[in-house]
Amino acid sequence: MSRAAVFLDRDGVLNVAPKGDWVRRVEGFHWLPGAKESVRRLNDAGFVVALVTNQSGIGRGLISQADVDAIHEKMVHDLAEIGARLDGIFICPHEPTAGCHCRKPKPGLFEQSVTALDIDVSKSVMVGDSATDMTAARSAGVGVLLAVRSGLAPADEISAWQPAPDAVFDDLAGAVDWILGDRDGL
Ligand SMILES: [Mg+2]
Ligand SMILES: [Zn+2]
Repeated sequence: MSRAAVFLDRDGVLNVAPKGDWVRRVEGFHWLPGAKESVRRLNDAGFVVALVTNQSGIGRGLISQADVDAIHEKMVHDLAEIGARLDGIFICPHEPTAGCHCRKPKPGLFEQSVTALDIDVSKSVMVGDSATDMTAARSAGVGVLLAVRSGLAPADEISAWQPAPDAVFDDLAGAVDWILGDRDGL
């Protein structure tokens, strides 16, 4: 039977979002407080946890695929140290002008993950820090949209996003408290 997933954006949700830049090297990847433990809590609760991330630095020729692989190996290793895991990592490597179907706000990364991990998208949740995360998740049919303020978007900007998130939290830990607790009808 298809399972509910929690889709996570990377920069601004798991790690400190680099302002106007990309995480180019392992040394530039810095976990946000409580993020790793939040992933473990979702694992323990039986959710599929899928990372969906735009990394156009690859397509722009600024970061190599090998560097991104190394960054994600570190991420997976750090998670494993506390007994946490990502069930899938889905990356759009293309630059915006490529017109691909996977760069958020397009829904392609979600569609890839649904096929690969047998996800029931309507029962699933997106946690993101940008309007493009909300748009992509909604076009893919994700049932619940949650925003976090731990990324680059100022709070007053978040309140103007379309589609509007169902709820807004300081960080992933706050979103996970809500996901695992009383969802207030959602
Ligand atoms: Mg982000
Ligand atoms: Zn793409």
